[in-house]
Amino acid sequence: MRFTDFNFVDALLEGIAASNYQTPTPVQEQVIPPILSGRDVIASAQTGTGKTAAFLLPVMNQLLLHPVTDSVGTLILVPTRELAIQIAQHVEGLSYFTHLSSIAIYGGSDAQNFVAEKKALQLGADIVVCTPGRLIAHLNMGYVNFKQLKFLILDEADRMLDMGFQDDINKILAHLPANRQSLLFSATMPEKICALARKILKNPAEINIAISKPPEKIIQKAYVVHEPQKMPLISYLLKQTPYKNAVLFCSRKQTVKELTRSLKRTGFTVEEIHSDLEQTVRENTLSAFASGRVPLLVATDIISRGIDIDTIDLVVNWDVPDDGEDYVHRIGRTARAEADGTAYTLVSKADQRKFGAIEALLEKQVEKAPVPAELGPTPAYEPNKRQAGGGRFKRGGSSRGGRPGHGHRGGNAHRDPSNRK
Ligand code: AMP
Repeated sequence: MRFTDFNFVDALLEGIAASNYQTPTPVQEQVIPPILSGRDVIASAQTGTGKTAAFLLPVMNQLLLHPVTDSVGTLILVPTRELAIQIAQHVEGLSYFTHLSSIAIYGGSDAQNFVAEKKALQLGADIVVCTPGRLIAHLNMGYVNFKQLKFLILDEADRMLDMGFQDDINKILAHLPANRQSLLFSATMPEKICALARKILKNPAEINIAISKPPEKIIQKAYVVHEPQKMPLISYLLKQTPYKNAVLFCSRKQTVKELTRSLKRTGFTVEEIHSDLEQTVRENTLSAFASGRVPLLVATDIISRGIDIDTIDLVVNWDVPDDGEDYVHRIGRTARAEADGTAYTLVSKADQRKFGAIEALLEKQVEKAPVPAELGPTPAYEPNKRQAGGGRFKRGGSSRGGRPGHGHRGGNAHRDPSNRK
């Protein structure tokens, strides 16, 4: 399936192309058509499946075809300010070539923001992404204009209920016009979510996306570290773990280049693969790898879905991928066929939240392995705590690509790597 199959307006297709989305994800394939046809939807889909664009794209398309004036057009309720900001960034990217207006409204922001929020809620905005408490504060002042609201979306609804937002949601519902399309997304579907769905949704299309899980036989371990500890830890792990073929994944090609250089300096026989290299160079590298001449490969996600080399028995994630699916695909490079496999993931402070989301997706806690004492003290694993430069952001965050070989040479393990830009 292709995005053009949905008959989206051209400006939206341009935004999709600019966001580098090639094809719809499974959740998008299933969720977009019923939304476009006007149905309510309840979908169980976790972060990492492309669920945000799955609801944004059809909603934006309908707002472009049938503009709303002088009122909020779409209300997206979310549990946290991080998610509000992240969704607003998605909206910005996908709506770049359109005239759609949007705003993220969340608690804890300053008085100046309050004025802008009031203006959007009073005079109208196409898409408002909001945490419940902050919206209640505005509703209490009487100026919020939901008269022509077309869409209500509850994202991460299970988390909103877990955080005690049920009453706030009820209050908000009382202010919304009945004649609207409602969409509910939740990672899990406990009874309280079903009860909420019965209250909010009319004859909804039910969509259940089962995330692919990695084979059980892969031994997964995570190392919770400070960024500068990664390089010495990788060296240690590669020396300690017997392997035939190992792949080291990095999210960015710059990191691939730097890590390869550092490993070569340390004496490893290693090559790199990323999109800056010509196809023939990549193929030669892959065949050298498959034949065992080069046992170690550093790569971007360019090969996380493609290669099928039976002898890969170790995968190391230098960083945590943005997508749960990418994690599954990365570690799925090992333990192919009858072989066993091990997958290590280095989790820096800035990546903890992302890794927590992946664990939620897998419905499994990955074992946190001890880091050798000589590398110094390591951070606590607190994936639910907000970190500076937090891990959920795709743009502008510092979470990706700590610089290999520029870090710890002993002695500075206390430094907070999330401050390193
Ligand atoms: P989400 O599950 O909404 O948090 O999305 C996970 C990540 O997938 C985000 O970084 C999106 O930008 C990205 N994404 C969403 N849809 C697509 C797609 N069709 N192709 C590639 N990436 C996508």
